This record gives sequence, structure tokens and C-alpha cells, in this order.
Amino acid sequence: MATPAPLPAIQALAPYTPGLSIAEIAARYDLPQVIKLASNENPLGCSPLATEAISRCAASAFRYPQGGNPRLAAALARKYHAPADRIAIGNGSDEIIDLLIRILAQPGEHNLVCFEPCFSIYPIQAQINGVACKRQPLEPDFSFDFQKLLALVDTDTRLVFITTPDNPSGYLPPLASVRQLADDLARKAPRALLVIDEAYMDFAPDEAASSLLRQGRLPANTAILRTFSKSYGLAGLRIGFAVLPERIAAAYWAARLPFSLNLLAEEAALAALDDACFHALTLKTVTAGRQILREALESMGCAVYPSAANFLMFSLPAGHAASACFEHLLRKGVIIRPLKSYGLPHLLRVSVGNKAENKAFIAAMADFLA
Ligand SMILES: *Cc1c(COP(=O)(O)O)cnc(C)c1O
Repeated sequence: MATPAPLPAIQALAPYTPGLSIAEIAARYDLPQVIKLASNENPLGCSPLATEAISRCAASAFRYPQGGNPRLAAALARKYHAPADRIAIGNGSDEIIDLLIRILAQPGEHNLVCFEPCFSIYPIQAQINGVACKRQPLEPDFSFDFQKLLALVDTDTRLVFITTPDNPSGYLPPLASVRQLADDLARKAPRALLVIDEAYMDFAPDEAASSLLRQGRLPANTAILRTFSKSYGLAGLRIGFAVLPERIAAAYWAARLPFSLNLLAEEAALAALDDACFHALTLKTVTAGRQILREALESMGCAVYPSAANFLMFSLPAGHAASACFEHLLRKGVIIRPLKSYGLPHLLRVSVGNKAENKAFIAAMADFLA
């Protein structure tokens, strides 16, 4: 008897390469303590109000969550000054990315356009959904040339993805150029949605001046993605949100699995939104830590790229291999992110940690470079 074969597009998938987990490294090198600076998680953990909400609601776990998450949508609408009927919520931004592709692109016919390298979920979900992905290499300094990106857009393009600030570089494109991209795209491809992934935007030095979401009404062809995984400290609960054009928001809620956001995640998100103090302390910690890490790396001869996010991308002084550095740090109990899976084998990315974590990382780096 034969086993049914998965579709060719599925068989061809290279699985997502996540950062290594603390448990894996602790076991492999027999370490009592491991520091993870590989996945851009919150260096302060999660908001105490969020953990309190999870405990308070734990006994309600037998209930289904409320379909459509209206309480969270209303809270997000207030916080981000957007109409509630334009808010989408998903099981991480990952679910929103996947559904936007499925809502807008006909498999085998339409395409999406993004940069190379970029957040790997865009091309992976495109492939899973049978949608071609056209990719424009970044400039050598990791900045964006939107004219080159636009040159890839054709009559079959239904989505264009950009990340700002970008992952893995931390590059922040000027707001005026993003707005221009939305205008140019509307003219060239009226049926294409510009998806601006602002997962790291609240870490930007001047969020209000850098985010299209903060400018009031969005262009009619533009969607903004945000997440609870980074500055709100809830990566493990999987909560993403977006502000979408009305029509696409309606399609989103029709297409989304009714209960994809679980009950405890929704309660924790509501509590985290209320904890302005924790959020502000996170931004302060990341901003200060980012500067300390930059100075330390530069003083050791590393080249550090400009970053408006909660991580730094860097290269080592001549004569040192990124893979050896990564391995050396692992043995010292510090996990960072090698960028080989992004096609950047000579570069490394480190998330900004808390004071003790940053110190341990700097010490391990000094030890490697000595
Ligand atoms: C971390 C990250 C996200 C967040 O994804 P979630 O599914 O919400 O955890 C989105 N986009 C980029 C570019 C990221 O790096």
C-alpha cells in the first residue's frame, strides 16, 4: 500500500530555521545557565500584569475564546487610533502573513514581491500557497532601493512585503520613501497590497516620525503588521495584529480560523497593552543596551550595522569566521543568531539583552577574539 504524496510545492520546502533553544544548548554542553540572544525576545521577560492575567484566567481554559476577539480589537483600535473594523488579529504575525497571501493571490497565477534577504516567513508561506515570490537583492549596505523593488512588480503582483526596521539588519528606511513606495505601487499595480511589517518599529529612535501607522490614515493600498512578540514580551503566546484596508480586514476575519487566538493569549495581550510602565521600561532597556553592545563590538574591531531594532547585525574583524564565533559563544552558554540561513554566512545577529546578558555576551566575544 502506498502513502499519499504531499504536493510538490510542499515536498520542496526547506523548513524554517529557528534560533536554537536554551534547553538544547544546556543539554548539549552540560551548562547550568544559558543566555539566549538569538530571537529578539524581550530582555525583561513579560509584563507582570500579563502573567497575572494568565494565572487569573487559567481556570477558564475549558471555554472557547470569543470569536473575532472584539475586546482586543477594540483595545488595539484605541491604542493605535485606527477604526476597530480595520484591525486584524492572528496567531502571531505569521498567521496574518499567511492569510493575506491566501486572501489576495491566486495560486499558480499571482506573485508577491519582497527583498532578499528578508524575513523568511514571506517566501515560505508564498511557496506553501503556490504563489511565486520575486525577490530584489538589498543594496550592499542593506538599505532599500524601492525603485528596483517596483521594477519587479507586474500585472500579476498582488502583494509587496517590506520590513521596517528590517530584520536581520536593523535598517530603517526614511518614512517619506515608504510613503512614496505606496503611491508608486498604487499607480503601477492598483491590485497589489503593500504590507509593511513593523514588528520592531517601537524600538526606533523616533517611532512617531518613522512609522506610517503613526501618521493617521493609511494609504488605501497599505497594511501594517505589528506583534506582541517583541516589545510586549509575549512571543510564546503567539499574538500578532495588523491594520488593514477595510475590505481586506473583512475578508481576513471571514477566512481566519475562528479560535486561532487562544483565550489566555488574548487576556495576556489585553493586560500587556495596559502595562505602559513595562513597555516603556522595555524600550529604555533596549535603547541603552543597543548602544552598549554597539560600542563594545566596535571597540573589539567588529563592524556593526546601523539598527533601529532590538538587535544588531555585525561582522567580525578579518581572520575570524562567523561560524567559529557562534560555536565558541554556544560553548560559553550564549546563543546568538548566525545568518547563514539568510544567505549571509559572514554575519551574525545578536539581540539586545538585559544588563547581565549583554555583559556575558561581551565577555564571551572578548574571549573569542582574544
Ligand atoms: C519577530 C518578527 C515578527 C513577529 O512574528 P510573530 O509571528 O508575531 O511572532 C514579524 N516579522 C518580523 C520581520 C519579525 O522579525
